[in-house]
Amino acid sequence: MVTDGLLSVSRDMISIARWTLRTPPASGGSVGVAPCVDEFRSAMDAMVSLSRPSIRLHVPVTVLEPTIARGLRRPYVTPSPQDGPGVPLSGPLKGAAMLDKPIRTAPTEVVEVGCLIAGEWVTAGPKLERVGPWVRESVSTARQADEDDVDAALAYARRGAKATARLSPAARAAVLERAAAAATHQRDRLARLLALELGKPVKDGLGEIDRVADTFAVAAAEARRVGGEVLPVAGWARGVGTTAFTHRAPVGVALAITPFNAPANLLAHKLAAAFAAGNTTIVKPPPQAPAVSAAIVALLLDTGMPPEAVQVLHGGGPLGAALCGAPDVGVVSFTGSVATGAAVARAAGAKRLVMELGGNAATIVCEDADIGAAARICAATGYSNSGQSCISVQRIYVHRGCYDEFLAAFTGEVEKLSVGDPLDPATDVGSMVDDDAAERVVVWAAEAEAAGATVTTGGRRDGATVVPTVVASPPADARLIRDEVFGAVVSVLPYDSFDDVVAACNDSRYGLQAGLFTNDVRRIVRAWRDLEVGGLVVNGSSNFRLDHVPFGGVKDSGFGRESPRWMIDDYTVVKSLLLRGMSLFGDQEGTR
Ligand code: NAD
Repeated sequence: MVTDGLLSVSRDMISIARWTLRTPPASGGSVGVAPCVDEFRSAMDAMVSLSRPSIRLHVPVTVLEPTIARGLRRPYVTPSPQDGPGVPLSGPLKGAAMLDKPIRTAPTEVVEVGCLIAGEWVTAGPKLERVGPWVRESVSTARQADEDDVDAALAYARRGAKATARLSPAARAAVLERAAAAATHQRDRLARLLALELGKPVKDGLGEIDRVADTFAVAAAEARRVGGEVLPVAGWARGVGTTAFTHRAPVGVALAITPFNAPANLLAHKLAAAFAAGNTTIVKPPPQAPAVSAAIVALLLDTGMPPEAVQVLHGGGPLGAALCGAPDVGVVSFTGSVATGAAVARAAGAKRLVMELGGNAATIVCEDADIGAAARICAATGYSNSGQSCISVQRIYVHRGCYDEFLAAFTGEVEKLSVGDPLDPATDVGSMVDDDAAERVVVWAAEAEAAGATVTTGGRRDGATVVPTVVASPPADARLIRDEVFGAVVSVLPYDSFDDVVAACNDSRYGLQAGLFTNDVRRIVRAWRDLEVGGLVVNGSSNFRLDHVPFGGVKDSGFGRESPRWMIDDYTVVKSLLLRGMSLFGDQEGTR
């Protein structure tokens, strides 16, 4: 039988398509195959000569059957309209415009950000305005999703999951590799958008976009490695005569909920790994950064991610909770605060969860450390993005023998930081996400001062910009020590013995990452073993991350490890196959 279907082919699939065409269809002289082959071939040639990245055309799916039947690499085939009623699976995509508009926009222009639902950017409807914390005027408005949008997105996701799973790992990897190059190409514009929506200095924004490119490239490499195992079942008597395999199958629908502080790279991690694993993803971006989040998605669409693989719904907590609770969602990947994480878990119920939550990271400076270098590194990494990082340097414990020297050097380095306009490439510290966040930092520093600590520099704010603040020796029960400050203030405290400092670091409900300045290998091993954290950075502060190294916390800082290789494990399920009476291994009984 000949059935019409839609075939979407990209340039790197040309050879596959040609191979397909030259192979006689299994159905022999099926009606209509030959004319369509000609039509197909001329369309492919036109595509090559025009250097168009992709083209869509109707062909009878029987043309593809020989390839599919042999289990070879298949071009991506969208389900045919006969698959059922509902939202059309392919429509006009305005990915390029979505990306272009925000990145070309001047600070005074407002970026209109749509929800991406069922392959369409929807802008009509209720909107939420984002006022940039530095420019203090509207920079973007995001179309807010309602209940009908949630239903439409979930219905489309159910079908999109099947379509995305059919795309070969090689094709997924190719999309992600192109996206890595595109992110690098667009780094200035995307960093500018981060500065406008969040007050993040372009210096930090460029670093984040470079990491987006890395994350896409790493995810592309990992997409190529998704596979399975031949299990050694014949090693146990009951398994003799059977062959068993596993493979990692996509979960289906992934939900990615991201925080404001690194909205581009954290979205890149979740979306790229989910796609590498063959899932469709619903993205719920932070209300503070809708435009940069949409721009990352648009960039992926422009580099070939099929519309079935991603949707974007803007909104706040109620929208996030509704999506978490949806039975169609198979895995929730959440990054945010501990309190919201608990709400996510309640809403999601018995569902696979990956939780990247808060922290109050500690860094230890031992007596054998290079004090000048430690002070420089801690100053640079304690205030980047105004301290709004889950692993930002919040508590520095310094051996009492070098405490005064470190405090003076550190305060001097902090005072050298350039504070101001995030759009200025020389700025080290821009504004925080909003005035309330800045006020919290100032209040907590003042509270610690009232309890006996010394503010050696800073301690004030201008609007959402906090002057980088150093607080010396706050009491252990100060909120600056106990809670997550997530702002431009660092506390410095003395310690007497290594046992004491390990205990002080661990005296926290959090445990994300720690820093340690020492050259003593015994202390390194001891700290690695005894610190209650997900990662330890030696001769660096807590605030250092490589996107291909597993990252995540213990205790209230969450569970799961973010990095494409480990996230692909979270976004896939192990499926087993047992072949009885067929053994790859020896199956004869031994003699006693
Ligand atoms: P947040 O918890 O306020 O919000 C995070 C996301 O959750 C947002 O998209 C928000 O709209 C959504 N949300 C809010 N209520 C929800 C609900 N009931 N159900 C579902 N979703 C809901 O966090 P934030 O202020 O945007 O980000 C800062 C926090 O994120 C800090 O605590 C920081 O430590 C943490 N963080 C952790 C990591 C990590 O890898 N561990 C990385 C970055 C940030």
